[in-house]
Amino acid sequence: MFIIKRKLSKMKILIWFHKDLRTYDHEILNWVTSQNHKAIGVVFSPLKNSGEKKLIFWNETVSELKISLTRLNIPLLILTDHPLKLIPEIVREHKIDEVMTHRRFNKREQEFIHILRNQLPVSVTEKGDLTLFSSVDGELLSLRDLRPFTKFKNFVTSNWQVPPPLSNPKNENYFLSLTNSPQGGESAGLHRLKNYLWDTKSVLHYHETRNGLLKWDDSSKFSPWLAWGSLSPRFIYQELIHLKKVLGPSDGIDALIYELIWRDYFKFLANIQGKSFFEQQGLSEKKLEIISDSEVFNRWCRGETSEEFVNANMKELYLTGWMSNRGRQNVASYLAKKLKLDWTLGAQWFESQLIDEDTENNYGNWQYLAGVGTDPRDRIFDIKRQSSLYDPEGVYQNLWSQKILPNKGP
Ligand code: FAD
Repeated sequence: MFIIKRKLSKMKILIWFHKDLRTYDHEILNWVTSQNHKAIGVVFSPLKNSGEKKLIFWNETVSELKISLTRLNIPLLILTDHPLKLIPEIVREHKIDEVMTHRRFNKREQEFIHILRNQLPVSVTEKGDLTLFSSVDGELLSLRDLRPFTKFKNFVTSNWQVPPPLSNPKNENYFLSLTNSPQGGESAGLHRLKNYLWDTKSVLHYHETRNGLLKWDDSSKFSPWLAWGSLSPRFIYQELIHLKKVLGPSDGIDALIYELIWRDYFKFLANIQGKSFFEQQGLSEKKLEIISDSEVFNRWCRGETSEEFVNANMKELYLTGWMSNRGRQNVASYLAKKLKLDWTLGAQWFESQLIDEDTENNYGNWQYLAGVGTDPRDRIFDIKRQSSLYDPEGVYQNLWSQKILPNKGP
């Protein structure tokens, strides 16, 4: 019966946007528009305890999405209340036939969808990947296939193909001129992609500069747009392969693709690992020795520890919503291994502050650095050594040591 209805009549679809805030390479939008179904979009604002910079980035992103969807005749409701309360009301009020949302990778969000399914008289369909590789292939993996990362990488690169994007951007603001500060939304993300790959070709040096702490072009800075879905990983991949065809082999391009596979890795890991992905013990069999001290934790959050390198990175996070990968590794290792605090608290602090907050990549990396994930080496970062390697003149530390944090939270 249901299938017949789908084929014969136009439906009214509720699209629940979450981490897919774009209009190109979007499986649900592609399907809805090609079938001429009517649709309404909803998006829910991040949690109330989110940092200011994260909220600004999110607001910019959804404002642009709303305008772009209007052109497709899809109104977007930007809501602050709880999805489990509001979605059933909207379904009833607007006589929705089906709710659609992108595929969820982690247990927390999957449970949410499960509860929603039980509440609604209509079906809730998950459609569309957030990854390079297909989640359908990902389902064939077991935890054993994911340990360690290199095994996963070798397997996927020799057995799977990255599917091409479903559509390319039609964004007339593609050539918009922007300053360096990340601005949310599809246009700004696409502009950054074009700039990093085609205009400056900085990507060609990525393998040498990626650990830099100071310059905008040290790394791609794609993560804020990737995290909210304004940049499609498959579109990035397509552009990287195209650039390689034009310019020839490049270590920089290969290294960037390698990092995008890390991004997939944590998404598939979250999917397979389930509940323990968010738990202190993670995949480990031994219990961690944890010190519970909220004073020490607050000092870490505010960049007031005895390590200047840690402090500089934590201040950068608090004031900008951003921190480099090198910084993240150091401050996470310091919290978990030196201060012996609960790493899940560190992950929650990151989650509230980062403009590129991505649940799977955040918890996956934290778990890895806390020694309860898939790192076979269980390393401890030597902060002094890291600081002399990556900030030998102390320029980065000086920059942030001058900055005063507002006197509020955490
Ligand atoms: P580039 O170096 O230019 O890399 C390109 C892309 O590859 C990134 O945008 C990202 O999507 C992916 N990538 C790079 N490094 C990693 C990595 N270590 N793991 C997974 N994917 C990676 N990344 C997030 O997007 N959101 C998070 O919430 C997040 N939390 C993190 C927490 C910790 C403790 C650590 C150590 C890392 C975390 N990362 C997270 C991964 C990484 O630090 C950022 O993706 C990267 O710094 C973003 O900068 P970029 O876009 O310039 O990266």
